[in-house]
Amino acid sequence: MNKALEEAAKELNEATSVVITIHTQPDGDALGSLLAMSRYLKKAGKRICPTWGEEIRIPTHYRWLPGIDEIVDFSRCNGADVLITLDCANEHRLGLIEERLAQFKTIINIDHHIDNSRFGTINVLDFKAGATCEIVYRLLRLMRADIDSDMATQLYTGIVTDTGRFQYQNTTSETLRIAADLVDLGAMPNFIFEKVYENVSFASLTLLARVLERAEFVKNTGLFYSYILDSDLKETGASMADSEIFIDYLRAAKEAEVVAIFKETSEGRLRASLRSKGTIDVGAIARTGGGGGHRNAAGVTLDKTIDEAVGWINERINTYKTASTTS
Ligand code: 5GP
Ligand code: MN
Repeated sequence: MNKALEEAAKELNEATSVVITIHTQPDGDALGSLLAMSRYLKKAGKRICPTWGEEIRIPTHYRWLPGIDEIVDFSRCNGADVLITLDCANEHRLGLIEERLAQFKTIINIDHHIDNSRFGTINVLDFKAGATCEIVYRLLRLMRADIDSDMATQLYTGIVTDTGRFQYQNTTSETLRIAADLVDLGAMPNFIFEKVYENVSFASLTLLARVLERAEFVKNTGLFYSYILDSDLKETGASMADSEIFIDYLRAAKEAEVVAIFKETSEGRLRASLRSKGTIDVGAIARTGGGGGHRNAAGVTLDKTIDEAVGWINERINTYKTASTTS
């Protein structure tokens, strides 16, 4: 990865204009890396366009992030020397920008997903990184960037959210070292915690109550799941973007091996967020349905009813368990 990191640094030094993008339905890691990269490049005098490939809607718990108002609709980005993609495992995760890739001579793909399709002209990949923000931190260090307190806050937010507050299996000693450094540079852990995790609306707590109340456990596979219907959003006044952290509450169940939340999308499809607490590789399960992600955190969009989707996942967990006990 170090060679790719150096190539990326060189390209960025030479570039005059850069479009910076992330995956659709962005999470904290995507937003944190987008904002820190953008802030650095802007301070370095580049013309920048921070964006992503769908209608820009910021989840409430990230609206406070420094620089968040500078994100613009992709239609407002002019041509650029370089496109940086952050936290995107493949082209499809780019939404509308997927069809525009050919307009960029240089694409710097910075990511930590094990299933990254290497769609960049430069691929800066580290599958051991707990968050894309860790890789951005290393790139900024390599470029001798002056990491100010806003950048430290943006990067720390990405790391704390993607590692489940430093508790998931992707948390390494390096993660903690980088986080410590970011605190020295001005990131405030308690402030960020309150903004991300204690900043939910009453409406979204009402929605969380529904999710917890209707959660079901499937004993023979260890699947613990719940769902959010489109009608729940109307009835509670919450938004789907605010539900990102709900899955952490389901993970708390002692018996759960795999945790899933199914969310009805406005296009009538079903988006599944999957988490594994043990050895089951939910990334591999998601890939069999055209989705993807990490071993312990993944997502997939299915054209199924909730019952069908539960059956689909149970079947795959069983296949996975059988394969790993016979191999
Ligand atoms: P979440 O459940 O929070 O939406 O996603 C969990 C993880 O899986 C994230 O790292 C996310 O990038 C990845 N992921 C979610 N949905 C997809 C998908 O449709 N395709 C791929 N390749 N990765 C996904
Ligand atoms: Mn990530």
